Amino acid sequence: MQNNNVGERSPLSPARKPISARTVAVTAGIRQDGDTTRVRLTAAYVTALEAAGLVPLIIPPLTDKGAAAAILDSVAGLMLTGGGDIDPARYGERRHEKVSNVNVARDATEVALVEEARRRRTPVLAICRGIQVLNVALGGTLVQDIPSQCPGALAHDEDTPRNSRSHDISVEPGSLIANAIGTGSCSVNSFHHQSVKGLGEGLKVTARSPDGVIEGIEAEGEDWWVLAVQWHPEEMTDSAEPWDRGLFRAFAEKLTA
Ligand code: MN
Repeated sequence: MQNNNVGERSPLSPARKPISARTVAVTAGIRQDGDTTRVRLTAAYVTALEAAGLVPLIIPPLTDKGAAAAILDSVAGLMLTGGGDIDPARYGERRHEKVSNVNVARDATEVALVEEARRRRTPVLAICRGIQVLNVALGGTLVQDIPSQCPGALAHDEDTPRNSRSHDISVEPGSLIANAIGTGSCSVNSFHHQSVKGLGEGLKVTARSPDGVIEGIEAEGEDWWVLAVQWHPEEMTDSAEPWDRGLFRAFAEKLTA
């Protein structure tokens, strides 16, 4: 992976820090594959974390909710990744007909990790399903299907290449996201049919697309570093623009500061 932007190199590279400060728990899905069931994670997450000097430890859906504390004992940060829809029962709604790929074990594992991360203020980077599970874990709700529930919304889930930028976002000045990407507006890829609706406790919106769909949230206050985005920066680490690499760099800098 070539990175021609020498301005992004730093003498304080996270890669020089001890490995205990660079390990990140990365949640994964599970999927039927022929006659077997496999843990599954898009490799781009691993590539993006390693490029930022971090070491991913992959966490599949687990049956033991008590595992969250042991997992976070072993890492410096938590990354919540993309995947299927969260069971709407988690936020007290009836299931819309477009809801798909629900995995209640994954929901439970990730909600327990968010609750434990909040308790101990573990930094969290959340992507796509990750922003949604973060929000639901903290008491928020979701738009269950943007095309049918948000008339006039932009296309957020088109069948385009994973690294194709499909809509703009505007970002709250001074927010973690703005500081990480280095701009107040940019263009992002988009592969989601759900989005954050009612905000969870202690969260604030820091990025939206032009149709008002929530594309980024963070924690209120400064005692818990939480950066959550609805797009897929891990698919954009080869892009000419530094925006998406900036999100992983900010996470790495927080963990190793
Ligand atoms: Mn979008």
